[in-house]
Amino acid sequence: MSFTLAIVGRPNVGKSTLFNRLVGKRLALVDDQPGVTRDLREGDARLADLRFTVIDTAGLEDATDDSLEGRMRKLTERAVDMADVCLFLIDARAGVTALDEMFAEILRKRADHVFVAANKSEGSAADAGVLEAYSLGLGEPIRMSAEHGEGMHDLYTALLPLA
Ligand code: GDP
Ligand code: MG
Repeated sequence: MSFTLAIVGRPNVGKSTLFNRLVGKRLALVDDQPGVTRDLREGDARLADLRFTVIDTAGLEDATDDSLEGRMRKLTERAVDMADVCLFLIDARAGVTALDEMFAEILRKRADHVFVAANKSEGSAADAGVLEAYSLGLGEPIRMSAEHGEGMHDLYTALLPLA
């Protein structure tokens, strides 16, 4: 049996980078394809021998400031409801922000299974941010660099029981 993973988190933490890495070339939808909803992107993910559906919460980057938080909240709730498990990304270089706290609250209330990943954590500049991620109260953070492909083994280990 397969499962659906939603990648959630505030803009610019690296959600789409991870999505693209998991989906590789098996992505039918591209950003500039006309007539395609860009808010939630779905793809067939592959991680070693795991096969699953992955959802990227996109389409927020162009929101105006005053509508951003509400849109992010609604979109995240939709993704959470569609998914069996959520991967909550933070930017380890930025540490935990107020917006990250908002996402954590949604996930604590609404999601059945959540893993936290501290992304952009290549190099020692991210060490403090990785530790800060514990404060979100969502378990041990997965140290990850979506761009460099680091932390994929730990992600695999986390997801394996769901497969
Ligand atoms: P999203 O808005 O959450 O989908 O974030 P994106 O995937 O669009 O990434 C935002 C920026 O962060 C881009 O410039 C990426 O190249 C960069 N980025 C993503 N993952 C990493 C990472 O692991 N390390 C570093 N240093 N940058 C990253
Ligand atoms: Mg994105």
